[in-house]
Amino acid sequence: MSAGPVCPILCAGADDDRALALSDYEGATARWCPGCGDHSVLTAVERLLVAEQLAPERTVFVSGIGCSSRFPHYLKTYGFHGIHGRALPVATGIKLQRPELTVFVVMGDGDCTSIGAGHWMHALRYNVKMVAMVLDNGIYGLTKNQTSPTTPQGHPSNTQPRGTYLPPLDPIELALGVTNASFVAQTAEWVPAHLFATLRAAYHHDGFAFVRVLQRCPKYTADIYQIAVQRPEVLELLVHDDGVVVPELERTYTRRLVHDPRDLARARELAMPGERIRLGVFFRDASRDRYDLIRRATPRTTTERLALLDAELDAHAV
Ligand code: SF4
Repeated sequence: MSAGPVCPILCAGADDDRALALSDYEGATARWCPGCGDHSVLTAVERLLVAEQLAPERTVFVSGIGCSSRFPHYLKTYGFHGIHGRALPVATGIKLQRPELTVFVVMGDGDCTSIGAGHWMHALRYNVKMVAMVLDNGIYGLTKNQTSPTTPQGHPSNTQPRGTYLPPLDPIELALGVTNASFVAQTAEWVPAHLFATLRAAYHHDGFAFVRVLQRCPKYTADIYQIAVQRPEVLELLVHDDGVVVPELERTYTRRLVHDPRDLARARELAMPGERIRLGVFFRDASRDRYDLIRRATPRTTTERLALLDAELDAHAV
């Protein structure tokens, strides 16, 4: 068995003699459409769970609503299939009360960047340790083809059949603009080695790791990533020892750019819309303040908390 992570508080590697295999994590049979990119993300996540030997009973997947939010059903860890846009506050609550658990969040683009946008921004700022993925297929798929904030301009949908009116919101650009964000990365489900390496880097980050996964939806947005899938030169890999380096991709993906993930100004430049799709760690700073650690450093007993609450309520009594 490979050695589990050493820190019992921050990570949840199995610390017994079990050699956890894929079958220890596989849940129900996935019911996504054939060819859906969500299958690829599930495979990468299962690989990560095995590689890190994460104890299923100390690992939690939280989701909102959307095709990708069926994720917890397909894993044998703990799971919470929540309500639309609310995965992040649920996950934050879990991590604050049970810091020994490893928490993953799986959201769709509408889930995260529309109804859940307020929670998203503050989760980035609170920087509570977890891995938060947005599986971005540029559409509301579960509810059958409505424009989402990341739908490309001009792309027809049921809600804007003459073509989506506005330019899309870029989740990476936005995340890099949030105060105290500490890990922002982008990967693509059709590049499985990069997807796995990015999720692994996110898992090892000490803070809130936000990962946008470009995800194909053959049912409603089959065209939006087609060029990038067919022509590897459209993708540019950001490489750095502190980011993601995947040597086996060197022959296929020849367009590479060395980017130090500590350079926030450069990360913001690289995130600007352009002809290329960039994959890699845009920004990483593990020294940023973490709400969970600060809160834990000033523990209070239940009696003390109730007294503080009483005092606060008394202050508003007439
Ligand atoms: Fe996947 Fe699209 Fe089908 Fe949803 S509608 S399961 S995102 S292919």
